[in-house]
Amino acid sequence: MSKKKIVIEPDPILRKKSLPFEKVDSEVKTLLNDMLETMYEAPGIGLAAVQIGILKRAIVIDISKEDEKKNPIFLINPTIRFKSDKRSIYEEGCLSLPGHFAKIERPAECDLDYIDYDGKKRNLKAKGLMATCIQHEVDHLNGVLFIDYLSKLKKDMIIKKLVKQKKEINKIVL
Ligand code: ZN
Repeated sequence: MSKKKIVIEPDPILRKKSLPFEKVDSEVKTLLNDMLETMYEAPGIGLAAVQIGILKRAIVIDISKEDEKKNPIFLINPTIRFKSDKRSIYEEGCLSLPGHFAKIERPAECDLDYIDYDGKKRNLKAKGLMATCIQHEVDHLNGVLFIDYLSKLKKDMIIKKLVKQKKEINKIVL
């Protein structure tokens, strides 16, 4: 496993649609392992492949708490089959938008079809934080970020700050 660099907004790749995998081979497993390590190191509870610059439909999630046993979930080619009318609100953050958080309302429950780490077709009924996390990550595969749900004013403000943050980081590196 190796840790990868996380792509920070604004970056055009984060707005692109990721492509499905045709098969689950060792290359895909390596990608998933790298994603998991990158997510744990960050630390975060979810990461989509596009966030390390790979436009493929792969997601890793682990919502276990710090004092709990790690419980990683690998989602390949996920498709959300159902979203509940019932909604819930979570304060969301994103590894591609470091330091920014906002309350986002989404369907409270969702059903998902996906392929697992071993290439098996599976489905999952998710609610609570898991449902929010899945929807946030599947959005990434479609080029959508959580700030897209905010007013233009709030969204522009966050992007402006991120541009500034990026400049600061570059200064230090140079
Ligand atoms: Zn995110």
